[in-house]
Amino acid sequence: MSGLQALIQDLVIANRILAREDVVDAYGHVSVRHPDNPHRFLIARSLAPLDLDGAPVREDGHKLYLERFIHAAIFAARPDVMAVVHAHAEDTLPFGIAPATKLRPVIHAGSFIGGEVPVWDIADRFGDTNLLVTNIEQARDLASCLGPHNVALMRGHGFASAARSLIEVVRMSVYLPRNARALMRAKQLGGEVKYLSEGEIAARNRGYSPYSTETWRTWEYWATKAGCGHLLTRPDDPPNS
Ligand SMILES: [Zn+2]
Repeated sequence: MSGLQALIQDLVIANRILAREDVVDAYGHVSVRHPDNPHRFLIARSLAPLDLDGAPVREDGHKLYLERFIHAAIFAARPDVMAVVHAHAEDTLPFGIAPATKLRPVIHAGSFIGGEVPVWDIADRFGDTNLLVTNIEQARDLASCLGPHNVALMRGHGFASAARSLIEVVRMSVYLPRNARALMRAKQLGGEVKYLSEGEIAARNRGYSPYSTETWRTWEYWATKAGCGHLLTRPDDPPNS
């Protein structure tokens, strides 16, 4: 199987996992940068690549996601990013509309969202809209709010997350709502909430490898649970993974 075919299978797995784990529903999507052309990316529905303005590389009549521009702008702004998720997971929404409480890591698996999660408000630059990101200008504004971070919340809408691989972006996007839920519940208990320290977040990141046994086990487990375990292909482990 070619590298591109394997990557498309991984993209299918990523879609299935995110749906099964309630991160995306009828809305929300995941994309991956093209392995041979960094100026293109792949997203489900139409598997024809899109360029970094969100336009299809070839016109084949498939209907495209309205919010594909989110992916295009993040890939363009962040050469280090290989995979992007946009979703509306309900547990993240309160933190986009109640700015006094920051969404930060409170559980170990939430560490990958990073120490700071900026909130993007489409109204700041674009006034009254339908809240969806429907053009590249809005998406570029979102990407600049994301900056070097892993996740940006979108006020009244959802989130965008970005990572170095599909496995990483899926894992982060599954644990983002779970971390949000734990934080919400801790707030309900009252009193001081203990966040992960910067040192703890750094220690988690130091120990992370996308194809380590621990990470792979999660991907394999979620893929099997989502009914697509037969599509799994594991690349050769890099040394010291
Ligand atoms: Zn959306």
